[in-house]
Amino acid sequence: MASEGEEAGSRMPPGARLRHGMRQAGRAIVDYALPPRCPACGTIVGADRQFCLDCWSSLDFLGGPACARCSIPLPSAVPGGDLECGACLADPPPFEGAPAAVAYGPAARTVALRLKYGRRVGHARLMAGLMLAPLRALAGEGEALLVPVPLHRWRLWSRGFNQAALVADALTRLSGVPHDHDMLLRVKATPPMRGKGKRERAGIVAGAFALAPGAKERARGRHLILIDDVHASGATLRAAARILRRSGAARVSALCWARVVPDAATGNLFDFVALDSDMQSERMTG
Ligand SMILES: [Zn+2]
Ligand SMILES: [Zn+2]
Repeated sequence: MASEGEEAGSRMPPGARLRHGMRQAGRAIVDYALPPRCPACGTIVGADRQFCLDCWSSLDFLGGPACARCSIPLPSAVPGGDLECGACLADPPPFEGAPAAVAYGPAARTVALRLKYGRRVGHARLMAGLMLAPLRALAGEGEALLVPVPLHRWRLWSRGFNQAALVADALTRLSGVPHDHDMLLRVKATPPMRGKGKRERAGIVAGAFALAPGAKERARGRHLILIDDVHASGATLRAAARILRRSGAARVSALCWARVVPDAATGNLFDFVALDSDMQSERMTG
């Protein structure tokens, strides 16, 4: 992959570095000449960052009745009222709303995983493009500030980038809403939460976040919008929002690329997400 090659390039003797550089440049030209492909299935499409018709039609833009707090789809809407799901009523989340661009289905998952593990950083802009409408509805006219969910520094070193920060950057470029990458810190490295239940997940992320020095001055009176790629159980968003609420912000909400929706037949939220570990092991280079 390109970024691994670049890291290797910095340790090479000058001659090898030149040959390596020429190979990289050659690859850039080949990449440029290649036709654009659907980010989900790889079919050739007409323009960059565009889904093919099949993948586009498969995306679920979550337009139906949903919980006003956590955006989980609900069977029916109450006219004139903001309905909340049973989980949010029983244990209200520390964020006011958490819309997502799409439901977490095969195409949405592939795009998110190719950004995260396949280093397709251009996918951040594609995701941000579809997050723009929910961002505008959420941000309104207030003084919003985008706060990407941070990675612990060990994970940042091993991955080389924070996918949520890339999406927040792209959203700022498209919407003009500023971001603050340094407001929230991830002070505890957390193990993957795949296959864990709701209570276990909450325990894993408890104490994982802290406010950075100076965060209160920057957050005071503003509407902080947490940005993340996937909203599954909401444990991470809850833990991060709980800390942001201590900043003196006027409001805290969240916006994600994809919302995991429970299987209608089983009500199970987590089996689908468990598939990610298999895809991660494939290294997602496609
Ligand atoms: Zn496609
Ligand atoms: Zn809810």
